[in-house]
Amino acid sequence: MEDLKSRVRKASDIIKKARHVTAFTGAGISVESGIPPFRGADGLWDKYDPQLLELQYFLEHPEESWRVIKEIFYDTFDKARPNRAHEVLAEMEKAGYLKEIITQNIDNLHQEAGNTLVHEFHGNSKTLICTKTGETLPAAYADLDAIPPMHPATGGLLKPDFIFFGEGIPADAFQASIEAARNSDVFILIGTTGEVMPASQIPHMAKENGALIIEVNIEESNYTDNITDIFLPGKATMIMEMIWKEMM
Ligand code: NAD
Repeated sequence: MEDLKSRVRKASDIIKKARHVTAFTGAGISVESGIPPFRGADGLWDKYDPQLLELQYFLEHPEESWRVIKEIFYDTFDKARPNRAHEVLAEMEKAGYLKEIITQNIDNLHQEAGNTLVHEFHGNSKTLICTKTGETLPAAYADLDAIPPMHPATGGLLKPDFIFFGEGIPADAFQASIEAARNSDVFILIGTTGEVMPASQIPHMAKENGALIIEVNIEESNYTDNITDIFLPGKATMIMEMIWKEMM
């Protein structure tokens, strides 16, 4: 097998010469910002019951669900800052090498790093939605110490505006992701298992449309032996920095 350095060199060269590069990111890119992933080593599902994020369960047991939601998504996420992998993607966009990002993450870190075209496949935790009226409000304006939090004007139960199990994908993000899979000649997969449907299908669509797949992950994923052309094993911050240095 080729050594890592020569594979990074090859990937950098491909990204530099590409017409349309899209990054497809998962929980792994934010691990080094202090946000644990759901699956894999130290994944959140070892500690919490995923049922708490099922829509019906949430509506029937809002207090129980919200206690965990607050601990995972608000007490932790609020302290997280973009790491070097997020920053490199922002620098790549600024330099004209990266067109767009499709993210399964709900932590807003790509936007905070400076990327401007980010399709949030699963929504965003920074906004809350009223389950009674559909009105949204920034999470920062809600009283998250009062569990479960209620909309101050409508009195309805508030829910994070990200996708729970049993909910559909936001139509605009879904459509934009399909377009990206159609238009890209390179897809960079970073920190994703490829286990979460239907998001996991987007890289397959890109591959079918002729895109070359570069994958960054600390371990092999569902994609590695199936569609990945260049697998770069290692932490996202280290590998993205290596790629970027090679490109400059
Ligand atoms: P996942 O939790 O299923 O898997 C994480 C992947 O990241 C694994 O393949 C793991 O090997 C890899 N990884 C872990 N640390 C890494 C590192 N430092 N560098 C590179 N790779 C690393 O993630 P997923 O496939 O994205 O799916 C989980 C779902 O959970 C997503 O849909 C997302 O909505 C949600 N989620 C989001 C966040 C977030 O917003 N940061 C955090 C947890 C879960």
